[in-house]
Amino acid sequence: MVFNTTLTPSLYDAMYPATDFSSLSWLEQQWVSWYVTIGNPVLATGLMSFLLHEVVYFGRSIPWIIIDAMPYFRKWKLQPNKIPTPKEQWECTKQVLFSHFTIELPLIWLFHPTAEALGMQTHQVPFPSLKTMAPQVFLFFVFEDFFHFVAHQALHYGPLYKHIHKIHHKYSAPFGLAAEYAHPAEVFILGAGTILGPLIYCFFTQNLHIITVYLWIVLRLFQAIDAHSGYDFPWSLHNILPFWSGAEHHDFHHMAFVNNYSTSFRWWDRIFGTDDKYREYRAKVKAAKKAMKNASADDVKKLEQKLMDEVKAEGLRAEAEVENYKLKMN
Ligand SMILES: [Zn+2]
Ligand SMILES: [Zn+2]
Repeated sequence: MVFNTTLTPSLYDAMYPATDFSSLSWLEQQWVSWYVTIGNPVLATGLMSFLLHEVVYFGRSIPWIIIDAMPYFRKWKLQPNKIPTPKEQWECTKQVLFSHFTIELPLIWLFHPTAEALGMQTHQVPFPSLKTMAPQVFLFFVFEDFFHFVAHQALHYGPLYKHIHKIHHKYSAPFGLAAEYAHPAEVFILGAGTILGPLIYCFFTQNLHIITVYLWIVLRLFQAIDAHSGYDFPWSLHNILPFWSGAEHHDFHHMAFVNNYSTSFRWWDRIFGTDDKYREYRAKVKAAKKAMKNASADDVKKLEQKLMDEVKAEGLRAEAEVENYKLKMN
């Protein structure tokens, strides 16, 4: 890209003093161009953050919509008798868009001033190396996972569940688009886990570029959408990295209402024993499949469905108990 620095010389001088543009990568050049074209860093960061979220969220959801429409993939569906209808998916999309435009869009203008106040690099180039970014992103994953593990359990406490988290549990068999289907207060509370990690890290180290935060947010969106997809493939990440949560872990949370409160990793649920019912269910399915080695595929499916229905019925009882918390206290 050829930069016409005579057009807005003051902006180039102010934002990129002594920068050798020819040494920049293609992406870094686009970055410079974006900030100079918009001409207002608060607007440039805010707009880019919002667009990135929309493009990645809906972009990543599209393959799952297609997969749901193709019976071929049904054999890997965790709850095969629960395929979301187009109407359900559309209702969910409208709700997610509504909260993106009414909650996220007004708040996003605070992102640039907050980031700059904490010393985060924003418009600056060049970007940090992958060697710098990778451990930072890993730390954000660990921080968010623990934050979510604690905050999510708090949201299962009677009054908080009834007034806030119940919306997210509308779908006992979730699908990709439902990842952010939640009460605005929940989006705010659990979203804090995603954004606080980078802000705290930046405050203490003074060494963070917003491009690293964007990489983290893209990966976090992939994690959240895939965890809600409802599919467990032989090539799903948790089959390669056993401590990765994935859909197989979070789908159970929606089906059973209890257990599996974390997002990315399985370790906290394992350490604190909040995966006891999940492991019991998995063991039952495994034992049943072993015992029915010679039975027809249909009979195995029927038994699996029966075990699922039991967990689901137990989950409905547990949910009613949480919702009636106040009544029980009186
Ligand atoms: Zn929950
Ligand atoms: Zn969920």
